[in-house]
Amino acid sequence: MENRWIMLIDMDAFFASVEQYRNHPELIGRPVCVGHDPKKGNGRGVVRAVSYEARAYGIHSGMPVSKAYRLCPEAAFVNGEFSNYVVASNEFMDVLREYSDEGRLRRASIDEAYIEVTEGTCEYGNPIFLAQDLQAAVKQETSLPCSIGIAPNMSVAKIAAGMKKPRGITLVGPNPRDIIEFLAPLDVQALHGVGKKTAARLKDFGIQKLGQIQKMSLTELWPIMGKSSKWLLNRASGIDTRPLLDNGPRVRKSISKDKTFMKDIDPDLPEIINNYIVRICKKITKKLHMKELAFKTVTVKIRYADYTTVQRSRTIPRYCDDIHTLSSIACNLFDQNRNPLKAIRLIGVKVSSLHQISNQMTLTQYL
Ligand SMILES: [Mg+2]
Repeated sequence: MENRWIMLIDMDAFFASVEQYRNHPELIGRPVCVGHDPKKGNGRGVVRAVSYEARAYGIHSGMPVSKAYRLCPEAAFVNGEFSNYVVASNEFMDVLREYSDEGRLRRASIDEAYIEVTEGTCEYGNPIFLAQDLQAAVKQETSLPCSIGIAPNMSVAKIAAGMKKPRGITLVGPNPRDIIEFLAPLDVQALHGVGKKTAARLKDFGIQKLGQIQKMSLTELWPIMGKSSKWLLNRASGIDTRPLLDNGPRVRKSISKDKTFMKDIDPDLPEIINNYIVRICKKITKKLHMKELAFKTVTVKIRYADYTTVQRSRTIPRYCDDIHTLSSIACNLFDQNRNPLKAIRLIGVKVSSLHQISNQMTLTQYL
């Protein structure tokens, strides 16, 4: 089978990060617990989420707030509002949708999702570049940090995402041997689906690491795991053929395409960038026509070699779907907003304020 690229994007300490980076910037860098007021150690209830700074004191989610208070009396206790997390989650998923292959976003929980980026990787050349841009875009659009695991399938991507938290990017594969080596030293519980009970049973038979399972045959594993043996053998070796079925929000809010340059483009050569902008606009227009959509807003993103990024938008009074309008607005935005002294790493174009223009509607417009 042709190689796929799957990413699992997981927000870092999600609830606590929303409190720090969106609701209470004064709490950035401080230990934060989401949960009830500890009332100086006499409060009731449990901590629901913990910032990385608070984790350093040994506080974890599910711990009574009274105990958390004793471990770190100077921690900020915030009674979080769930609706804030839902809003942040939706914004996060919107960014992922822009980077995922068409119809390939699988929401796994409020703060994590799988996306397929097999096609996207062809454009970027390397999935790491795509992940870096995605991570920067999530930060820019939601203010929140995330970690990314990249692998040829969902199971390995999930494990990879947890390797370098917070703000990590971990790539595993595509060579099956690299995947085997990556998994071998890990505890059996690293596999999503192996809980405490299964781990305890495996331990009774002296099995604690995935590498041990990799070396076993189905007949050897069967007396221990029964019907789950095949599944466990496959997952321990990083084999997971499940297709990534889309369950994300369906409404398309924007279409965007980026181009990251293999070598930064000299600021004296804006015409090279203009050529790329036209090429990007052609691709976007093709997609607009396929989906029978028209746009009103055009955004151009310029990322410089030093990773600073500017975005500028223009909204036109009428819906439009032709390449000439799009590319002239985009090139214009670029010319007017570029810094003539800085080399460019990435250029991107996005159309938004979309509107469906089905045949039916065109007909009614004529009537
Ligand atoms: Mg998370």
